[in-house]
Amino acid sequence: MIQKDYLILGAGLAGLSAAYHARGKDFMVVEKSPSAGGLCTTETKNGFSFDQTGHWLHMKDERTKKLFNTLFNDAEVVEIVRKTWIFSHGVYTQYPFQSNTYGLPPQVIKECLLGFAEAWKKDDKSRAGENFYEWCMAWFGKGISNHFMIPYNTKIYTVHPKEYASHWCDAYIPKPTIDQVIEGAVTAPEQKDIGYNATFKYPKDGGIGELPKRLFEKCEKEKFLFGVEPISIDAKKRTALLSNGETVHYKKLISTIPLRDFLRLFSDDNAPLFQKIADRMKIASVSYLNVATKKPLGHDGHWFYIPENKFMPYRIGSFSNIYSKLALEGRGSAYVEYTHQGEMDKSVDEFRAETVKMMVAMKLIESENDIDFMDYRTIVNGYVIYHNEYFDDMKLIKEKFKNAGIKLAGRYANWTYSAMENAIIEGLESV
Ligand SMILES: Cc1cc2nc3c(=O)[nH]c(=O)nc-3n(C[C@H](O)[C@H](O)[C@H](O)COP(=O)(O)OP(=O)(O)OC[C@H]3O[C@@H](n4cnc5c(N)ncnc54)[C@H](O)[C@@H]3O)c2cc1C
Repeated sequence: MIQKDYLILGAGLAGLSAAYHARGKDFMVVEKSPSAGGLCTTETKNGFSFDQTGHWLHMKDERTKKLFNTLFNDAEVVEIVRKTWIFSHGVYTQYPFQSNTYGLPPQVIKECLLGFAEAWKKDDKSRAGENFYEWCMAWFGKGISNHFMIPYNTKIYTVHPKEYASHWCDAYIPKPTIDQVIEGAVTAPEQKDIGYNATFKYPKDGGIGELPKRLFEKCEKEKFLFGVEPISIDAKKRTALLSNGETVHYKKLISTIPLRDFLRLFSDDNAPLFQKIADRMKIASVSYLNVATKKPLGHDGHWFYIPENKFMPYRIGSFSNIYSKLALEGRGSAYVEYTHQGEMDKSVDEFRAETVKMMVAMKLIESENDIDFMDYRTIVNGYVIYHNEYFDDMKLIKEKFKNAGIKLAGRYANWTYSAMENAIIEGLESV
């Protein structure tokens, strides 16, 4: 039996950060795929680089900035000012929708303004915590909710906003004042101060995959076991049986693997309860197309939200518009995303055809002839759908784990919506 102080499951950003910050300690990392990086990796084809859809690094925490600066010097990084749009009713409006309705049909603007004014006047947030639908109605009113929030979020989460919680919204969805909403209805986007946009960092070479690559380089590589996964865990004995036949006895276990899979590994008294909770958990998978075009795209925006149901994808982003080195000179590239639960409910051919239809409607391309190639990919665990018992379940799990020396780090281990920076910090805090 192998004895370790720490057993780390998974070598995405969270697992790598845990391993990096545990240097010098007695630990091992078990990763089921052949290499590190998880969702934060980059593939290349014919001179084009594709991340697993857009992976743009926003950093607020000093600890992440410090780590990033030990991996990259300033000359190796580009800082980019975000240019984000919504495409609906045949026009482009600036992100966020709620404070940028200029350019939409007058009736739509009127509904958005009246709904917002009504919600503002009422100022009743008592139901905002009930579900995401109530949150939207309380903060934005009917018009903005019906024209963007509800259709867009139904597309991305695959279920109606009445069916999931709203606790994450305050941190991620901008809430404008009434002045901003009115200003945004009467002012053209090009007259707005560009400084209002957020910025993000990106490696000059190697795509976002360069980040975990460099982090792994600084880790004690001999402590990583690739192509191996846990088969069962006994939380009482603190042992994990691995797919290579070895058993590890650990003092502390750090899991960065998807919580639903992790819960199903337990073989002790907790197994029936964990199984029941795992059965309740739901997640949207992301199917996406890596698109290479023969010419630059017909709009210079970075990514575009697509709320309308007449288009299958919920979002399209452009690697080449964000950083031209990600495509061949004089060409364009994009990622097109569509979510579903379980297997994709449309065929790949249909997804391709719908993508072409949408890109033509958006005037990003003139016709299918402008496409060089499109490659289909899937992310099985994409967007967690917060089930009704989510909070009680998570509280119970965390209590049980605390007593068993188990910590969770990263987006899917914590079964939540979070970003690369969170994965890095949670990995750091886990050791
Ligand atoms: C479509 C999409 C777009 C995104 N865009 C952005 C963005 O622009 N900016 C941003 O900051 N964040 C973005 N994110 C979030 C970001 O990808 C994550 O927050 C971050 O990469 C999560 O890292 P992680 O280590 O927690 O998980 P992962 O990257 O999923 O790593 C988990 C690791 O565990 C391994 N593993 C899984 N199961 C097992 C097992 N049973 N045994 C052993 N190993 C296992 C996996 O192979 C993987 O290597 C996006 C996410 C998605 C889905």
